[in-house]
Amino acid sequence: MKTITCNLCGSSEQRLLCTGYDRDNLQNRRVYTLQQCPGCGLVYLSPRPDTPEELAEIYPATYDSYMGERQRFLMWMRRIAWRPEVREIVARTTPESPILELGSATGEFLAELRRHGRARLLGLELSSEAARIARERHGLDVRAGQLDDVPLPPGSFDLVLMRHVLEHLPDPRGTLTRIARLLRPGGFCIFTIPNIDSHTARIFGRDWYGYQVPRHFFLFPQRVLVTLLERSGLQIDQIIHNPAPNVWIGSTRFWLAARGHTALARFVRYQNPLAVAAFAPLGLLSALRRSSGVIRVIARRPA
Ligand SMILES: [Zn+2]
Repeated sequence: MKTITCNLCGSSEQRLLCTGYDRDNLQNRRVYTLQQCPGCGLVYLSPRPDTPEELAEIYPATYDSYMGERQRFLMWMRRIAWRPEVREIVARTTPESPILELGSATGEFLAELRRHGRARLLGLELSSEAARIARERHGLDVRAGQLDDVPLPPGSFDLVLMRHVLEHLPDPRGTLTRIARLLRPGGFCIFTIPNIDSHTARIFGRDWYGYQVPRHFFLFPQRVLVTLLERSGLQIDQIIHNPAPNVWIGSTRFWLAARGHTALARFVRYQNPLAVAAFAPLGLLSALRRSSGVIRVIARRPA
C-alpha cells in the first residue's frame, strides 16, 4: 500500500472524505480511506494498492468489465445505452479517422464503432487475456499494455476514448497529458467517469456506487476537472449526463447490503431487467437535471 500526494496540485495535505471497503469482495477485510485535497478539491484513495500482488487482488479474473459472450441481456442493454455515444463519435470523426481506446477490455465498444463504419481502430488493454479475447472474438487490433509500453507517433489520433478508465489509473494527469500529445491539433478525447457532484453521490454518501473502493483511485469534482484538463493541455468542449440507471441500481444495492438486506440486494443488479425498468426513470431524471452519476466529458486539444 502506498500513501500518495495530490495528483493535480502536488499537495500532501489531505482531509478524510470517507472510509470504505471492497463491496464486491467481502473476503478483503481492509478498510480504505478516501481523501480530499483541501487545496484543489481532487478526491483520491490513499494509501492505495500499488504492488503487482496488491493490484491482482483487487482485479480478479472475474472482474466484470471482461464480458462473457453469453451475457446477452447485458450486451443488448449496453448497445442501447451506447447509441448516443456512438452517434457523437460518428459525428466528430470520418471513416478514416484513427481512433484509440485505452482500456478497451474485450473490444465490445470498438466492435460497435466498426459496425458504424469506423475502420482505423486501435485498443490498448492492461489485461492480456481480455486483449486476446478482443482479437479472437472481433478480429480487432487490441494490444496488451499501457500507453507507455506501445510507441505511438505524436499527433496521430483524431480521437482517444477512455470509458470508465480514468478513475482507475495511478496518474490521471500524466495520462491526459500523454493523450493530448497523441491527438492531432483539434482532436478529441472523450472519457466517461463517475460524477461525484451527482444526486446519487449526495443521497447515498459512503454507499455511493461511484466510489468503487478500492478500484477507483480518483474522483473528479467538476471544478477539479476543468483545471486538470487545462494543465494536461486539453479544453472541455462538452459534459454530457448519462441517463443510465446503473449508479442508482448499484448504490441501492450497496445501501441494502450494508444494512444486512443481502437477499434483497442480490435482486437489485443491472443484470436484472426488472431492476433496470424500476430505476430507469430516476436515471433519466438525474440526466435531465444535469446531475447524473455518470458523465461523458468531451475534451479537445486546442487547434
Ligand atoms: Zn490538490
